[in-house]
Amino acid sequence: MSKTEPVEASNFIRNIIEADVAAGKHDAQVVTRFPPEPNGYLHIGHVKSICLNFGMASRFNGRCNLRFDDTNPARENEEYAQAILEDVSWLGFEWSELHHASDYFEQLYTYACDLIRAGKAYVDSSSADEMRAMRGTLTEPGTPSVYRDRSVEENLDLFKRMRSGEFDDGAHVLRAKIDLASGNMNMRDPTLYRIRKIAHVRTGDSWSIYPMYDYTHCVSDAIEKITHSLCTLEFEDHRPLYNWVLEQIDAPGAPEQTEFARLALEYTMLSKRRLIQLVEENHVRGWDDPRMPTITGIRRRGYTPASLRDFCERIGVTKNDAWIEMMVLENCIRDQLNVEAPRRMAVLDPIKVVITDLPEDYSETLSFANHPQDESAGRREIPFSSTVWIEQDDFAEVPPPKYQRLTIGGEVRLRGSYVIKCNEIIKDETGNIIELRCTHDPDTLGKKPEGRKVKGVIHWVCAKKGVNAQVRVYDTLFTVPNPAAAESFTDIINAESEKVMSMCIIEPSLTAAEPETHFQFERLGYFVTDRRDHSPTTPTFNRTVTLRDTWAKK
Ligand code: ATP
Ligand code: MG
Repeated sequence: MSKTEPVEASNFIRNIIEADVAAGKHDAQVVTRFPPEPNGYLHIGHVKSICLNFGMASRFNGRCNLRFDDTNPARENEEYAQAILEDVSWLGFEWSELHHASDYFEQLYTYACDLIRAGKAYVDSSSADEMRAMRGTLTEPGTPSVYRDRSVEENLDLFKRMRSGEFDDGAHVLRAKIDLASGNMNMRDPTLYRIRKIAHVRTGDSWSIYPMYDYTHCVSDAIEKITHSLCTLEFEDHRPLYNWVLEQIDAPGAPEQTEFARLALEYTMLSKRRLIQLVEENHVRGWDDPRMPTITGIRRRGYTPASLRDFCERIGVTKNDAWIEMMVLENCIRDQLNVEAPRRMAVLDPIKVVITDLPEDYSETLSFANHPQDESAGRREIPFSSTVWIEQDDFAEVPPPKYQRLTIGGEVRLRGSYVIKCNEIIKDETGNIIELRCTHDPDTLGKKPEGRKVKGVIHWVCAKKGVNAQVRVYDTLFTVPNPAAAESFTDIINAESEKVMSMCIIEPSLTAAEPETHFQFERLGYFVTDRRDHSPTTPTFNRTVTLRDTWAKK
């Protein structure tokens, strides 16, 4: 296990809920929700929120709903909604109820009319510019709009006509009547409804007005009898408004909002808006590009649901913003796959070795353990013959100091096979080495060589039975730890974030693997068969992570 894993990371929210349950608050019930807006694909930041909301519900035998916060029809669509459902399920969570904020439009409208009747809301017909000018500043109070004291009757009539589509976008808004002098700008008569003459995926053309997030969210929480409404820190300043709305209306539940720090992950950008830009500007090959921090991208890269849940456990939940190092995420998948992934051999950048003291048609079958520490993982057979592929990197014509791999006149062990010695190299007309001519020591299969030490062990694949494959090697998409701070993507996109290697040779058994199967390629790292492109005739692998942490070096 890696050093980064705490026994149980800090989670102040767990402590709050524990105390609430002990005190019998909310009838000792725990009901949470994960409330995504279907305006993009979920990313690893959302995983933190999902694990927290579903995790707390399950820990306290409660319930967690999935609610689409679909009040902004201009940006939302069904593709996103479907992807969100798939991603949450894939992470291993089951929602108690599936809801849409749009299901509450009628109820939200009724409550808004109640607010008007109680003198707590009014229709403002000022332009957006006028309203901005009247908002005041942190040191100066806002100025009341000339429409602030409209009569209840006039407000109700206008609001009804806003709903029926009589007015154009921007002609009026419905505002809460709270406190124009409040030090909290969110309390200076915030907008509750705006006119948007745009069709909604679910409600079609039935509405010309749409409720704002701050009004919708607390009411939706209350309707669903959410007990603990967990959200990110930027909503802390909105909490007084959340509570204000719920105090005014006669809502079924009494949810309480608690804020926690967003996940910020180095070398990663977590904002749907910016991720859309990456896709639309073709910096990546789509939402599920293995370099994307989307759940679907991370999944295609080879991360497992368990590794992501483990990540959320390790980082904990706090009220302080902090950057998480990439190493923390990588260690989660490394630790899991080290235990679970079967070992295989693959050569990514091959050079041919001809064993000249074996007959040309020589073949032998060698038995390999699938996992060095786990006998129950079984064994497999690997073909060996008089020609094998090894990595170009594992041979040096002019070896650097302390080089323990193959050199001219030097010996190395082919893992699980014989010790070979290179006697001669063959080059093409341009001087590239194309073949290493070697001899083998027949007395070294499963045995140490007599009278000498051979330190180097390299992986290999039989050239006669090995199969050609494509392997994609990934690095971070950005060259800087905080890409969101950069002016433009073009300066900070890592040109080497993806290396497509098409001449790779793999053990023949690997072609039969189903898509999304994880392996350790000996000495190379952890790899997964690609979800989309892998098949027996097109074996395709993505490197999930290197074997060992490479961040310390950087
Ligand atoms: P983005 O800025 O990427 O669009 P968002 O906050 O607008 O994210 P929502 O769909 O509104 O996205 O988010 C659903 C839930 O996920 C919210 O409760 C939100 O606070 C939470 N969430 C979003 N990003 C993060 C993050 N980086 N870390 C933790 N929780 C997050
Ligand atoms: Mg949002």
